[in-house]
Amino acid sequence: MTRAVRVRYAPSPTGHLHIGGARTALFNYLMARKSGGQFIIRFEDTDQSRHVEKAIDNQLDGLKWLGVDWDESVDIGGPYAPYRQMERLGLYQPFVDRLLADGNAYPCYCSEDDLEQERAKQEAAGEMPRYSGRCRHLTAEERAKFEAEGRKPSTRFKVPAGAMIRFTDRVREEVEFESDGIGDFIIARPDGVPTYNFAVILDDHLMDISLVIRGEEHLSNTPRQILLYQALGLTPPEFAHLSIILNQDRKKMSKRDESIIQFIQQYEELGYLPEAVLNFIALLGWSPGGEEEIFTKEAIIEQFDLSRVSKSPAVFDTDKLKWMNNHYVKKADLGRITALAVPHLQRAGRVPAELDAAAQGWVTSLVGLYQEQMNCASEIVELSEMFFTETVVFDEEAEAVLREETVPTVLSAFLKLVGPLSDAELSVETIQQSLKQVQKDTGAKGKALFMPIRVALTGQTHGRDLNQTIHLLGKTKIVDRLNRLLS
Ligand code: GLU
Repeated sequence: MTRAVRVRYAPSPTGHLHIGGARTALFNYLMARKSGGQFIIRFEDTDQSRHVEKAIDNQLDGLKWLGVDWDESVDIGGPYAPYRQMERLGLYQPFVDRLLADGNAYPCYCSEDDLEQERAKQEAAGEMPRYSGRCRHLTAEERAKFEAEGRKPSTRFKVPAGAMIRFTDRVREEVEFESDGIGDFIIARPDGVPTYNFAVILDDHLMDISLVIRGEEHLSNTPRQILLYQALGLTPPEFAHLSIILNQDRKKMSKRDESIIQFIQQYEELGYLPEAVLNFIALLGWSPGGEEEIFTKEAIIEQFDLSRVSKSPAVFDTDKLKWMNNHYVKKADLGRITALAVPHLQRAGRVPAELDAAAQGWVTSLVGLYQEQMNCASEIVELSEMFFTETVVFDEEAEAVLREETVPTVLSAFLKLVGPLSDAELSVETIQQSLKQVQKDTGAKGKALFMPIRVALTGQTHGRDLNQTIHLLGKTKIVDRLNRLLS
């Protein structure tokens, strides 16, 4: 068993739960559950310009839906509360003061305009833009002058020159950065609100986080954070940076990528099953080895190991997700799938908003008819379309079937048998018997019998169980469709 850990997922509350965020949260969760440690969710909301109302709920709801739970956060509290940075502002100032007092940080009076000009100059000269450090060396008088002008300084961290920052990443192994590639960076804004790199190390320290698992986009922040830990005399946690996620074209998945459904809530809305989505996300960068791909959450927890998390990018394979969800849909209880499918049929105007017992029974059978085929519950609308159309649309293959000589004989023989039956009498059994009778009456059998009837009633040459399909179509539609073809 791995050593117990304290891990955290620390989203900035800027919107819905994204696939990337869900993967980060899940891997932290797995690590905690695997080792008997704690999983903390902390909200990094110091960038108020990007703050989105409801985003905290959206994040938590998305995780709850997936089946991920946590030990400490804004909703349930915990021994290290509060779990939102804007409620922790008072905790950061002493550390700013300490860095200033030790000469590891300094006030910076540069305005946005100053910085912009500096950046433009560096870019024009083909240099990598970074802060020149001009406020590092201000004299006491110069500072006093800026203060007198009413300029409010931000606080910048003094990045030591010529240092090599090395750390062992649990996924990427040995990583090193030169401090000379990093300009002095802002740790607190003029209003005292800390920036991400500063707040994150203080919270990770104050919350006793032992391992930081996060996306690779934060790898370049890690040397900055390690320098801050060092300047404050604190021990950094361990790090594990998860590879980026690529789309099926092997391009970096961007939030605007339309080839991928990006937000967990969208999967929920489409009627995906949370255990399938969780299974799929767990495999974005992790694999226990072997061919098997279907795992329950418990099995994943048991087998999860950071040493089996890949350094290479994960590929988001939408077809695989559909296949996986279909696997879970097939195994799921019909009542559960029906409950997920009904709202989609209602929204499409296919079934009434209130279902009486008969309608409920019918719709359950309809979903049962397609359960095997459904990748997700919303697909019921398209799959079952021909049950709701006024007329049947025939494709070329279907037209060809209907041109067969024996078709009118078969269809009228069937119509003659089912026409006089009431809807209630039109059970799967009577339909089966009628089809047998048609066989006797006309001599048509096998394909020559079933195909014309299937095509006439559904417009399709392939489909689900014929008896059940006819039964669910109901008397009016059957008679109407046969009559139309025969006339
Ligand atoms: N707030 C950061 C984000 O949403 C968290 C980064 C980290 O885990 O350190 O990307």
